[in-house]
Amino acid sequence: MGPPGAGKGTISKQCLDVFSLKQLSTGDLCRRHIKDRSQIGQRIDFYIKSGKLIPDDLIVQMVENWLFEVLPVCEGVILDGFPRTVAQAYALQELIKKQSAECELSVFKIEISDYEVMQRLQDRYICIDKSCQVVYSYRKESNLMPQVEGICDYCKSQLVRRKDDNFNAIEHRLKTYHTFEQCLLGFFQDMGHRIAFLNGHRPSDIVFQEVKKLIRKPLSC
Ligand code: AMP
Repeated sequence: MGPPGAGKGTISKQCLDVFSLKQLSTGDLCRRHIKDRSQIGQRIDFYIKSGKLIPDDLIVQMVENWLFEVLPVCEGVILDGFPRTVAQAYALQELIKKQSAECELSVFKIEISDYEVMQRLQDRYICIDKSCQVVYSYRKESNLMPQVEGICDYCKSQLVRRKDDNFNAIEHRLKTYHTFEQCLLGFFQDMGHRIAFLNGHRPSDIVFQEVKKLIRKPLSC
C-alpha cells in the first residue's frame, strides 16, 4: 500500500532479486493491455488516463487469472497496487482461501506526504518497454537516475512520462488513495493481517533494506 510515487514498484522489483517471489503490478498489467490494444485495454484506457480506479470486478478478474497461474508454482507473491478498495481486499482473501489454505497475507504500507508525491511524480520517467516498465527519477538527489539520460539501464529502451503523471490525474489518484486508505487498513486490521508501516521519505535502497528484514522474519502478528 502507498500513494502513487511512494516506491511500491521500485521496492517490489528489488525484492525479486533477493527472494524467490513473483510480482504483479496491476498498474503495469493495465498499461500492457492498453499498449496491446486488447479488449480489456480499450475498456480501461479512459480510467487510467484520468487517474480513476478500474472497476473492482474487472481488476479482480485480472488478478485471479494471474494468481491461478503463479500460486501453484511459487513460494509467494508480491501484489503491487492491489488491493486498493475493501471490495478488492475481500475478493483477494477469498481467492487465497480458494487456492491455497496455507497462504498468509502481509501488508506493507509505504508512507509519504502529498507534497512529496507531487515532487516525485513531476520528475518520474518509466521505461517504454511494456515488459520492463522500470521507474526512474530525474531528481538531483535521487538514487533512481538512469546511467544514460532517457535510456533504460536494463533493456536500453526509451524513457517516457506516464500519461497519468499530469497534475489533474495525480490529484485525482491521491484523492482516491486517501478515500480508501483508512477503510482498507481497518479491513486488514480486523482480519488480523500484519501491517508494517514504512517511512517512504528515505531513499528506496534504505526502505528496501527494512522490507528485506521484515520478509526474512516470520511475518506473524
Ligand atoms: P499504478 O501503476 O499502481 O499507479 O496504477 C495506475 C492506474 O492503474 C491506477 O490509477 C488505476 O487506474 C489502475 N489500477 C491499478 N491498480 C488498480 C486497482 N487495484 N484497482 C483499480 N484500478 C487500478
